[in-house]
Amino acid sequence: MSAVLNETHAPSLQSWVTSAQAVGGDFPIQNLPFGVFRRAGSQEAFRVGVAIGEQIFDIASALRADAFAAQSDMSKEAVKACNSATLNTFMALGMAHWSALRLAMSRLLRVGASEQTSLQACLLPQAEAEYSVPAQIGDYTDFYTSIHHATNVGKLFRPDNPLLPNYQWVPIGYHGRSSSIGVSGQNFHRPMGQTLPPGASIPVLGPSKRLDYELEVGVFIGSGNALGEAVTLDSAEDHVFGLCLFNDWSARDMQGWEYQPLGPFLSKNFASTVSPWIVTLEALAPYRCAWTRPAEHPQPLPYLDSPTLRAQGALDIELEVFLQTAAMRAQGQTEQRISRSNFHHAYWSVSQMVAHHTVGGCNLQPGDLLGSGTQSGPLPNEAGALIELTVGGKQPLTLANGEKRSFLEDHDTVVFRAHCAKEGAARIGFGTVVGTVLPSRVAVES
Ligand code: CA
Repeated sequence: MSAVLNETHAPSLQSWVTSAQAVGGDFPIQNLPFGVFRRAGSQEAFRVGVAIGEQIFDIASALRADAFAAQSDMSKEAVKACNSATLNTFMALGMAHWSALRLAMSRLLRVGASEQTSLQACLLPQAEAEYSVPAQIGDYTDFYTSIHHATNVGKLFRPDNPLLPNYQWVPIGYHGRSSSIGVSGQNFHRPMGQTLPPGASIPVLGPSKRLDYELEVGVFIGSGNALGEAVTLDSAEDHVFGLCLFNDWSARDMQGWEYQPLGPFLSKNFASTVSPWIVTLEALAPYRCAWTRPAEHPQPLPYLDSPTLRAQGALDIELEVFLQTAAMRAQGQTEQRISRSNFHHAYWSVSQMVAHHTVGGCNLQPGDLLGSGTQSGPLPNEAGALIELTVGGKQPLTLANGEKRSFLEDHDTVVFRAHCAKEGAARIGFGTVVGTVLPSRVAVES
């Protein structure tokens, strides 16, 4: 159902919010992503909004203005569920309600809508807003769906055995930590942890010296499933509310020491950052593409395969990574792009992540977050993390201003962007996810 195009996708639609028509803008009326915001610096309650052009449409304010009077009963139920400081209640309603509210919003924000005058007061410029993590994230699972990333990193950690044999059969993941997930703008201190210095046999405690980002797509679960009841592959996307950008900050030196035998622990639990806006699967419908698996690779087991997956299980989302150092900031230079990739390279799809996560009976709940794993493409400059771009730090990047980077330094800011564009559909974007590394809380002896 989420692949079906309807009147909300028509490329010709225009909004009375004129900035929605900006060329190259992320938030035209065909997008309508959901987030949670308030006036920056205020003590107002966080509330649900929809991005439109350079504005935020305040749903609670529109509810008070009775703006939804002429819209469907289902959309009115959805609006009531949005009257909250998180999206969880709305997410739990399910796909029919998400779609009904999208249609109502599309009609209210179109050029010619009779409600335009009363709705003008329900807008807040994004430049005047601050955001919260859009849902209360009960559980967070991080996958590892890029075979290019898994192979590149595997070579660095295990030169003799880069890709473990289960990789091509199991959508590999681990259960992560939700308490340290923050929203874009998150600034965090360089983490302390145990590392094993090269050639040493006894580890040391200290600030990570190999701090990295991971370019990921976040998947927010909408409606959950009951404990014990698996979600089938072809119904998996009915449970997915939408996608965001996700930076899974990683301390590589801590990871290399601790990751065997149970996987990442402190190397991944100090900070992870989501973008403020969740782009719904319905908005992404024009950007579906075939999911493929090379013929010489093992084909998925039947519970992870279907004709629908093969026809439209992947998503064509352009992903970009930018870096701004303290020196660039001091000189007024904007962030520099250091790599780009595309979500369609993922070895495992969103639906396969959900189907596999639940096949043993695990219950997903509204607001749960799945990370896609680092999204690296097949080419060296399409790597989604510094550890790959710099080949484990051995080939530092040279930035345009002459600075070099093997791993992140204090006061570095990392920005991810993503968008979808093709002939015959409106370009839609994800906005940004931004985060900055602060020095370790512990003074380091030089
Ligand atoms: Ca990760």
